[in-house]
Amino acid sequence: MHQLIWFRSDLRVQDNSALAAAMAAGPTIALYLVSPGQWREHDDAPCKVDFWLRNLAALQVKLQQLNVPLLVRHAEFWSEAPRVLDEVCRAHRVACVRVNEEYGIHESRRDRAVAETLASQGVAFESHLDQLLFRPGSVLTRSGGYFQVFGQFRRACYQRLYGELPELLATPAAQAPLPIASDAVPTAVAGFDLPDQARRRLWPAGEIAAQHRLALFAEEHLAGYREQRDFPAIDGTSQLSPYLAAGVLSPRQCLHTALRGNRGEFESGNPGAVAWISELLWREFYKHILVGYPRVSRGRAFRPETEALPWRQVPDELAAWQEGRTGFPIIDAAMRQLCATGWMHNRLRMIVAMFLAKNLLIDWREGERFFMRQLIDGDLAANNGGWQWCASTGTDAAPYFRVFNPLTQSEKFDPNGTFIRHWLPELADLGPRDIHNPVAAGGLFGRPDYPRPIIDLARSRERVLRAFQELPQLE
Ligand code: FAD
Repeated sequence: MHQLIWFRSDLRVQDNSALAAAMAAGPTIALYLVSPGQWREHDDAPCKVDFWLRNLAALQVKLQQLNVPLLVRHAEFWSEAPRVLDEVCRAHRVACVRVNEEYGIHESRRDRAVAETLASQGVAFESHLDQLLFRPGSVLTRSGGYFQVFGQFRRACYQRLYGELPELLATPAAQAPLPIASDAVPTAVAGFDLPDQARRRLWPAGEIAAQHRLALFAEEHLAGYREQRDFPAIDGTSQLSPYLAAGVLSPRQCLHTALRGNRGEFESGNPGAVAWISELLWREFYKHILVGYPRVSRGRAFRPETEALPWRQVPDELAAWQEGRTGFPIIDAAMRQLCATGWMHNRLRMIVAMFLAKNLLIDWREGERFFMRQLIDGDLAANNGGWQWCASTGTDAAPYFRVFNPLTQSEKFDPNGTFIRHWLPELADLGPRDIHNPVAAGGLFGRPDYPRPIIDLARSRERVLRAFQELPQLE
């Protein structure tokens, strides 16, 4: 009888809970499902799907070294997963299917359906904690609820970490070869355009590449992370989010690397390491929120009263934002970075999200969806959490009266205009004083090669403040 590891967002062999458990229990085979219909329904970006497939190919090489054959099967939608898993289990005499937990409502529903189908055939289904440091539901308030305030959640996580640090798992030793052939990993999936080579080079696949990036970050940038992380022209952040989202890297690996760089401390010592570990806990926080408050998975606002906000239907303004034509250079440069690379710096994500939800008063869900369709690190929990934070509709969100001014944000976080000049070469001739607001520099008629601002910042700010103030208070 065989063990089956069903890979999903955990595309690595090192420190992989389900793989380690499977190989400890017996001869193991691996499975991956290609589900284009489901991916489309989830707005997964083509560059992200390409990243998954490239990482799957790299994973296959690693699995070959362990003599674990990898089967690749098609299940257009996850509703077909129980049938496909059942067929694989019958064909290969599987005693137990092992997975690493995923937390969205569709993922949970899929896994419950698979577990039920397999149980009726006498096949066990075991879920393992892997994507997070702490299982959702295990970090709770005194009254037993999910934390809604990040600072309190983080304190509770620190207490857990003092008690017991999640251990790194040893990579399993190779098993005896099995007489089962691996399937070819597809290089493309219909309906998802392949990104160009330049974009692929930005995000090399495989756990060796991921660990190399982590080691380089720890060595060169971790110590200065707190000071540098807000400046998009500097490579001050790890750019590991695509690897964490696809599970090419585990949060345990990240945590242990940061701790090594900080003599085992997570709350004190090097401020860079402390700040970075705190970001890993934001990742953790939003996934716990997803489980604790499933309505956010269903596209609902965390704060129900904000559902009454008078979102504007303005397709032209939405398109200008999406295409980087708002006339605010920091916004336009950020949106061009997103569309060209599949990634955007965190400070910029906050600036462009606030601009859409607050200044343009466009429903944050439009922005959330657009981000998801572009991001190589697109992650339901982090994306939804980030958008609801910026729109002041979420847990522990920015207070409604906080509306970033894109011009002052630009002056503060891209003081020389280096980032803007890189993405908006048409403004390259402007100096550090004028580049943030070219219309002011261009006189009455602005510049022929760059749009005028699509809105008046002061008036749009008043409009959104009024909209929040007029909300009926629900209890
Ligand atoms: P680092 O600064 O090096 O942080 C290390 C890791 O911590 C990240 O890789 C990420 O896994 C995690 N992390 C950092 N900040 C956050 C945060 N605020 N929330 C949750 N996790 C965090 N992150 C995603 O991974 N996927 C998304 O789809 C996503 N959408 C976002 C949308 C909006 C509107 C906002 C404001 C933020 C979003 N984030 C998202 C969070 C954050 O912007 C990215 O995680 C970060 O920019 C990734 O870059 P990095 O790997 O260099 O991060």
